Amino acid sequence: MQFQDTFKHKGMRRQLIDELKKDERITNSAIFDAFYEIPRHFFLDRAFLEQAYSNKAFQIGAGQTISHPITVAFQSQMLEIKRGDRVLEIGTGSGFQTCILCQMGAKVYSIERQKELFLKVKKIMDHFRFNPKLQFGDGYKGMPIDAPFDKIIVTCGAPEVPQTLIDQLKVGGIMIIPVGEGGEQIMKRIIKKTETELDVQEFGTFKFVPMLERTAK
Ligand code: SAH
Repeated sequence: MQFQDTFKHKGMRRQLIDELKKDERITNSAIFDAFYEIPRHFFLDRAFLEQAYSNKAFQIGAGQTISHPITVAFQSQMLEIKRGDRVLEIGTGSGFQTCILCQMGAKVYSIERQKELFLKVKKIMDHFRFNPKLQFGDGYKGMPIDAPFDKIIVTCGAPEVPQTLIDQLKVGGIMIIPVGEGGEQIMKRIIKKTETELDVQEFGTFKFVPMLERTAK
């Protein structure tokens, strides 16, 4: 049931996309296409099926949440995704953002520190033709083996911008990361201009679960 995509679901997705279109920050039409192609209800527990297409965050297990659709759209917009971009994601969570980026043509490398969620997403991916590299581990370490990346997206609230991640970003690359301690963070977009020079822009406050160190079982 959960993995059936009906006309009703598609209609609900169109409504959600109409909502997102009202936000003038979102201008990349590939994001709207991806929201249509990726059934968000595949990523939520059965109990939330009916609400899968409202603009809300939801529990996905292990005390974590799937990001608000508008947040997923906004972070995707800020990354200026191009086909073939190699993107590192910190905080796989439900896997929804991962799939949006894959659908937009990125090759995604994603790290999750909660074993339960990591295993759940691996199963959900069987329902898609994408092949992201999913890793159970600590996002603070990044993925040195596959670095450098064109883009990096952090989907949990980081106390500061981890230098390891800056090091794994290509010159000319973009990182989008919510930074701040406590319940709220400032969304920052960092462009790595040269090996030593960063251009940092800020985009208002967001609420993410915290980026924690080390792995949980
Ligand atoms: N992109 C996800 C957002 C999930 S919430 C989605 O749309 O569903 C953020 C996720 O970051 C949680 O699953 C949490 O377990 C994970 N996380 C927190 N700290 C982390 C770390 N240090 N490394 C990797 N993942 C981390």
